[in-house]
Amino acid sequence: MKAMTVGVIGAGQLGAFLCEAARNLGLKTIVLAQKPKDPAVALADEHIIGDLSDASAIKSLRERADVVTFEREDIGSDVLQELDNAAESDAYTVAPRPDILRLLQDKATQKQWLVTNGFPTAAFVDGDVCTREQAVQQFGLPMVQKAKRGGFDGRGVQILDEDSIDEYWTSGALVEECVSYTKELSALVARDASGNIALYPMIEAIAKPGEQVLDCALMPARISESHSKQALQMAADIVTKLEGVGLFAIEMFITADGTLLVNEISPRVHNTGHLTLQASETSQFTQHLRAVCGLGLGPSEQSVAALCKNVLHEDDGKYYEDGPFARREVEPGVWFHWYGKEQLGKGRKLGHISCTADSVEKAINLLETFQAPARHYDEIRHNKSRSGKVRAA
Ligand code: ADP
Repeated sequence: MKAMTVGVIGAGQLGAFLCEAARNLGLKTIVLAQKPKDPAVALADEHIIGDLSDASAIKSLRERADVVTFEREDIGSDVLQELDNAAESDAYTVAPRPDILRLLQDKATQKQWLVTNGFPTAAFVDGDVCTREQAVQQFGLPMVQKAKRGGFDGRGVQILDEDSIDEYWTSGALVEECVSYTKELSALVARDASGNIALYPMIEAIAKPGEQVLDCALMPARISESHSKQALQMAADIVTKLEGVGLFAIEMFITADGTLLVNEISPRVHNTGHLTLQASETSQFTQHLRAVCGLGLGPSEQSVAALCKNVLHEDDGKYYEDGPFARREVEPGVWFHWYGKEQLGKGRKLGHISCTADSVEKAINLLETFQAPARHYDEIRHNKSRSGKVRAA
């Protein structure tokens, strides 16, 4: 039987992990990449170079794929509409549905959907219909402004206080109360077209101090059983209500008084879910493909506690170099993943380190005692073999 082909819109590291997982499932992949050196190009069976909003590139992708899916959200709204229309007549499916992406890719329509459907979220206003004075009156300082569209990895999110209030944007922002939270969480939910759901244990997300970018993720999250149950139920309800197909990440806060608030819905595999590569029976990438290709969901139990630490591009360019997409167990329980990116700006993700152990505390200790970096970066970048074995996907 001919292998099914999955078309992936976007070709960053999420796409690369999807291509790797697809190969293990016996699926073919074709990616739409903006640049020939995007990480997923080397791992896909085929690729098309084009802009993510280039209608003809997307048409060519869908003509060569049985299932079209996304690793990014910032896809032109016209193109999404066309994908949706074409799926009605052509022999391919798109998952998740383009109208879900259209709803979620604008933070204001996403927040309004949460409110309309009774899911708790931080108070907000659309900055386009609210002056700075009105926003300050409503939320006080500090408050948060976010780009309604196109933000990712905390880019486009700014906490405004007395010193920075002059930077209030006059258009294109969602303005929110600044939540005083004790934990940030992420729930990974996979749903298939028949409505079956697979839930992963809750993940704790830790931002870089003083910044809005993810530094570290831990699974299971260090929260109470009741918070975990409540959060997973809410995440499952959200994806069910959306009738989403694929893997979704629901980001949440636990506030100082113990309330759960939904921060954001991502209709795709997620940075906080990388640790499922080592810790779960079915990684988030395999699960997403199983869901969108109708292969039946895999078990999402956790076999070991895990931590994932992002490796970000620093200012000095120390780690800014070519090198292939690679992974290696550099020490027992410590995996290094290198994304093989080039042309990076400060703060972009270069790779991640995963640690697995009997408990999250032990995984944290492992990271702390792991006298990492320079040596391993160098080995991984240049694909040198030393004591660590290169891990097959
Ligand atoms: P992005 O889509 O760029 O990831 P998010 O909405 O997830 O943007 O925000 C990035 C980070 O900013 C969050 O992980 C959190 O640390 C912080 N943040 C977002 N919204 C709020 C808020 N209302 N109050 C306090 N911190 C927030």
